[in-house]
Amino acid sequence: MIPRPRPAQHEPEAPRDLIGIGIGPFNLSLAALAHPLTELDTAFYDQRPAFDWHPGLLIDGATLQVPFLADLVTLADPVNPWSFLNYLRSRDRLFPFYFAERFHIHRAEYAAYCRWVSDHLPGLHFGHRIDAVRWNPGRDLFEVDFTRRHDPEGQDGCEDGECGDVHGRAYAKNHDTASAARWTTTCIRVGPS
Ligand SMILES: Cc1cc2nc3c(=O)[nH]c(=O)nc-3n(C[C@H](O)[C@H](O)[C@H](O)COP(=O)(O)OP(=O)(O)OC[C@H]3O[C@@H](n4cnc5c(N)ncnc54)[C@H](O)[C@@H]3O)c2cc1C
Repeated sequence: MIPRPRPAQHEPEAPRDLIGIGIGPFNLSLAALAHPLTELDTAFYDQRPAFDWHPGLLIDGATLQVPFLADLVTLADPVNPWSFLNYLRSRDRLFPFYFAERFHIHRAEYAAYCRWVSDHLPGLHFGHRIDAVRWNPGRDLFEVDFTRRHDPEGQDGCEDGECGDVHGRAYAKNHDTASAARWTTTCIRVGPS
């Protein structure tokens, strides 16, 4: 069973409590751990069109360096629904996984698990590149500028492996397309409301 997303509670102009820049495993873990805390208003942004862990580096047969319990949530919050075991259950693979006794999972499997979390966890915004973070002393909050990618054809502009490894080049290319109105720049606020 996939955890049911809670409804969005954010007022459009209200400052957030917490913003995560980038949605790699670290911030995906933070987002998953924050999900049950319904009083916390969070949002996470990544420039990529979807979660993609080390594109081009998931070599066949390569495993994680730690056993599966060091997933995004379990060691900090064993009852959190975004666990690797819940991912296996959603795929009807819990029993085969357990009896195989191979607890250092493949990196590709870990990436698929993270993708499952990122596909269902609310409050994640892909296709958003953070451009600047600055403190506004007058309003006692941080302001975060981001550029949002418009992608009507489903093309993300990043060839396989490029976004992960050659950020500067990928960004320069994306900047070139700004004049073609594929990007919208916006400002969001973080702090007390
Ligand atoms: C080949 C390889 C194998 C590894 N194997 C392991 C392993 O087995 N176990 C382990 O614990 N660690 C491993 N690591 C270490 C790796 O650093 C972590 O696994 C993990 O990717 C770190 O997560 P992260 O969320 O901090 O950063 P990242 O995974 O690097 O994610 C950062 C994210 O931020 C986004 N981003 C960056 N700047 C912006 C911006 N301005 N606006 C919007 N989004 C932005 C990027 O698009 C990216 O999605 C490995 C690293 C490599 C290179």
